[in-house]
Amino acid sequence: MPDEFGLINRYFSACGAAGNDTLLGVGDDCALLAPPAGEVLAVTTDTLLAGVHFPLDSPARLIAQRALAVNLSDMAAMGATPRWFQLALTLPDADQDWLAEFSAGLNAMACEFNCVLVGGDTTCGPLTISITLMGSVPPDKALTRSGAKPGDIIYVSGSLGDGAGGLAAIEGRLSAGSEDARYLEGRFWQPQPRISEGLEIRAFASAAIDISDGLLADLGHIAEASQVGALLEVNKLPLSQALQRAVDSEQGRTWALTGGDDYELCFTVPADGAAHCQRLIDEGLLMATPIGQIVDEPGVRCVDERGQTVDVECSGYKHF
Ligand code: ADP
Ligand code: MG
Repeated sequence: MPDEFGLINRYFSACGAAGNDTLLGVGDDCALLAPPAGEVLAVTTDTLLAGVHFPLDSPARLIAQRALAVNLSDMAAMGATPRWFQLALTLPDADQDWLAEFSAGLNAMACEFNCVLVGGDTTCGPLTISITLMGSVPPDKALTRSGAKPGDIIYVSGSLGDGAGGLAAIEGRLSAGSEDARYLEGRFWQPQPRISEGLEIRAFASAAIDISDGLLADLGHIAEASQVGALLEVNKLPLSQALQRAVDSEQGRTWALTGGDDYELCFTVPADGAAHCQRLIDEGLLMATPIGQIVDEPGVRCVDERGQTVDVECSGYKHF
């Protein structure tokens, strides 16, 4: 059994793809990193706790991929390019098979999204994975939550509700065909960080957020930060074929609005950028759907196809 340093060396000294912007990675007291000239650092941290954010006894490879994916999703929502990450790992024991699987999953995800593990901390205790991801963005290009204006169109990338459907499938609460269940479980475990979409839309979007706690809650954050409101057309919510087959439309809509774990982007586009955005969508360069409009009146209001207000149990995941 290797000691702590042997363990770090074996499993965490070569995760991802180091570019020449990494002057010094794992192994010293600090990493030395060189962001591109003219760009600022974008930094985000997310922690996953076993039994809270994923079921106990989940496969190590999937835990690793999800831990990095949720951080990448924050980077995408900022319109930033991911570059480096740190890993604070709390382990109940030094299980070599588990560590090998975990580091393989982490390496695969890091290579796919061009970032590299440059340091961290390793401690003993209940399984907890905390990742701090660093990237860079030109300061005037960063997408914040606070830039939405009345009249802007609201878009969402990909499809919604799959994360909640996937967790339900994993926990045995969903009776779906095996192929649909597999698809939904994959959407929970391997959310697709919308990095390229974030880089694409930063040219014309006015605000963005990634959907981790449910669309209503997260769009609510844009509305609050921008001091505006939102009108959401619930019949326009994009639902995957698999989710539509697995649950009735009421459940699908509820999961799309309030289920967490989708890691899609919700963003707003001023009227003068909407044509450009629509062209990208039509050309298949951007997978996104217009779902409503920013308005003056505060709050998020849902309407049906006739413009009638729809009441939705507005929750979103609450940690406390
Ligand atoms: P220090 O005692 O100086 O804080 P540590 O003993 O915690 O250093 O870590 C030694 C080196 O290993 C450091 O470069 C640290 O960043 C790195 N490291 C520790 N744990 C991890 C981990 N889980 N993943 C990646 N690097 C790690
Ligand atoms: Mg330390």
